[in-house]
Amino acid sequence: MQACNDHYYTTRDPLGLAGDFTTAPEMSQMFGEMVGAALADVWVRAGRPEVRYVELGPGRGTLASDALRVLRAAGLLPPIHFVETSQTLRGVQAAAVPGAAWHERIEDLPGDKPLLIVGNEFLDALPIRQHVEGVERRVIAAGGGLAFDRDGEIVESSPARDQAVRALGGRLVALGGVALIIDYGFARSGPGDTFQSMKDHRLTAVLDHPGEQDLTSHVDFQRVAEVALEAGACVAGPVDQGPWLERLGIMARARVLANGAPDRAAEIERDRARLCRPDQMGSLFKVLAIRHPDWPSPAGL
Ligand code: SAH
Repeated sequence: MQACNDHYYTTRDPLGLAGDFTTAPEMSQMFGEMVGAALADVWVRAGRPEVRYVELGPGRGTLASDALRVLRAAGLLPPIHFVETSQTLRGVQAAAVPGAAWHERIEDLPGDKPLLIVGNEFLDALPIRQHVEGVERRVIAAGGGLAFDRDGEIVESSPARDQAVRALGGRLVALGGVALIIDYGFARSGPGDTFQSMKDHRLTAVLDHPGEQDLTSHVDFQRVAEVALEAGACVAGPVDQGPWLERLGIMARARVLANGAPDRAAEIERDRARLCRPDQMGSLFKVLAIRHPDWPSPAGL
């Protein structure tokens, strides 16, 4: 999964209509603006300290440019740090967000100031393991293609995801700050096969076209919270994305945007509904906040 995704993300820009999948920030500027508003509010309540803005897997840089516009309006112009392994996407991000610095891993971030961190659809891309009755399920070469070596009730784990969250929690505890982790997944740990692949905006067979389609799994938010707590951080949530965006004021923002561009009013309302409605992204996607114990808890959770 790691090798396939490394190849996949370094050889293309997978986002948007011309790519394989579309994320919340690519659908509407309102998503990044709500993230920016949540971070700006927490920064003001923390006493406006010097901070760094950090984004994990920033894709095209769209979320960052929308969130940073709101932070700027609140009087904050932080140094910008992107944790991103894909050279191709780093190029796209550089064009969208001038002046950013890039890092391979969370562990490489500077260690001097509190961090305002956001990661949207980052953890789902990190590799998982699957077990059947305690035995790891492996991928084998068979019949000229790839196959799984066993089937049955599947239990998933993700040492790579645990390591990322441990590093994140450790950084926040050492430096101060908050992280907003947004992704699809479930609030409680449990068995189930959530390994999936997308190509051309369709779910595909996971073992087809290795390295040429997007491999992800659902995020176990209970596990993420446990690892963050073990690192000494505090957590809030997870809550569903729809109610979170509504509590942060997405309805009011949609009205302002529609009043300013009446010809786009229907499109703005459609995008808001896609982000919020429970039968669209509103309840599958969840938001978890991780923070230094002395930092205020972000709004909306
Ligand atoms: N956050 C963006 C993009 C999500 S796609 C959005 O919401 O639109 C996943 C992103 O994570 C891509 O930018 C991809 O290159 C990056 N990524 C995937 N695996 C990574 C890893 N191991 N380390 C750092 N970045 C990674």
